[in-house]
Formats: sequence, C-alpha cells, structure tokens
Amino acid sequence: MPPRQPRRAAVQTLESWQAAGVSHIRPKRGTEKSAPPAAESTPVAAPPLPVVAPAPPADRQAALCQLAEVVSRCTRCTELARTRKQTVFGVGNPHAKVMFIGEAPGADEDKQGEPFVGRAGQLLNRIIVACGWQREEIYICNILRCRPPENRTPLPDEAANCREYLDGQINIIQPEYIVCWGSCAAQNLLGTTESIGKMRQRWFTYANARVLCTYHPSYLLRNPDAKKPVWDDMLLLLKEMGLKPPKLAT
Ligand code: SF4
Repeated sequence: MPPRQPRRAAVQTLESWQAAGVSHIRPKRGTEKSAPPAAESTPVAAPPLPVVAPAPPADRQAALCQLAEVVSRCTRCTELARTRKQTVFGVGNPHAKVMFIGEAPGADEDKQGEPFVGRAGQLLNRIIVACGWQREEIYICNILRCRPPENRTPLPDEAANCREYLDGQINIIQPEYIVCWGSCAAQNLLGTTESIGKMRQRWFTYANARVLCTYHPSYLLRNPDAKKPVWDDMLLLLKEMGLKPPKLAT
C-alpha cells in the first residue's frame, strides 16, 4: 500500500480531532503502549494520540455525525477504500457506559453499514440481552471502519491509520467500560501481543475506561465451548458494574 498523502492525511486528522472535540495533541503516546509495529513493506507512523478531553462534547451525537462524515471520505488505506461498499463507522448510544470494540466489518456489515449485523452480530445481540441490556444502550464499533478483502485480518498499518477515528469515538463517548471482542481488538487497543486467552478475566485501562477482553463472537460460532468463558467474562463485567444478569425465562 502506498504511504498516505501527507497533506490530505493531515487535513483528515485535523477534521477528525475537531469532530471529536479535541483541542490539544501530544507528540507521542503517554502511558499507553503503542500498537503493534506497521508491516515492514508499508511503514506508516501511528498518528499521535489525541488527549482525552476533560469533558465530552455538549452534543455527542452531532460530534459523532461530524466524525462519521470525515470517515466516509477516508481513503488512507488504499486497498480498503477501493474495495469497500461503504465505511462502517459505529452505532449505538452516544452516552453509552459500555463500548464494544470488534475487529473489522465483514460482508454483511459492509453491505448494511453497521457493525456486528451478521451471524456473529446476532450472537452478540443474544449476549447483550443475556446481560440485561438492549443493543441500543451500548456503543459498538471496530478497529477498522472498512472491510478488509476476504475478511482478512487487519494489517498493522491499517489499524494505525484508523486509530484516530477509534480514539475520536472514545473521546466523544467517554465510556466507563470497554469490551474488546477478540485478539485483534484487544491487541490493537492495548498495544500488546499477548494472546486473548491470557488477557481475558483481567482489567486494563484505556482513556479512563476499564477494559475487558474476551473472545470474538465469530470465534464462538466456530468453537461453542468458548461460550462459557465469554459468559464468565460478561459476569465479571456485570459484577464490576454492580449489576446482575436477569433471570432468563426457561
Ligand atoms: S479503515 Fe479507517 S483509515 Fe482505513 S480507509 Fe477505512 S476509514 Fe480510512
């Protein structure tokens, strides 16, 4: 992939930070570890992390719409911009306490423009209901906002390209809890190469949010035995939030 055109990328960066209500930037990441290094053949520097605003924008929905508009025109990842049907920004409550972060749009998401709407999304919906929530209460997005061809794993430089949009969404919503679904989300958000199996059942911190990592719903579709550990992770989340799962009708 060719490197980003510096001027256009800089304009997109400023637009996205402005949309996210960011007024200051710092030249390098602070306590958070950086994302995995970019692919050797396509070095792309990760954008500086926006400072988390002391308060979210007054109109979070408007800020999200403004950022989504910037994202809809984004062509930083040349291959993804060429092959996508549309960008898949994110969906849910701008005031959500809980944010879910997945990997990247798949074919269904690319078609509908919404994250987690395929089979994995239906399973995620059932998990949400089992926790006592409605999908609309959560904010749901991905590491990438464009579908990788053939649903391949996002490349490190693609994740780096899209990071400021993710940080922008976090900055606007300022969730108290983030759940990373799958190793791609967990490793990219937290800048680690640890396996998802070792990261689950532990708490991390990112941008003032408590972060929990668990298996991706699409992994559960292939490995039903992983449903139990995911449910254990959800129980940990609920307990931390002072909640209990509702009794399900039998
Ligand atoms: S994945 Fe993100 S950074 Fe890459 S083209 Fe799509 S919106 Fe832009």
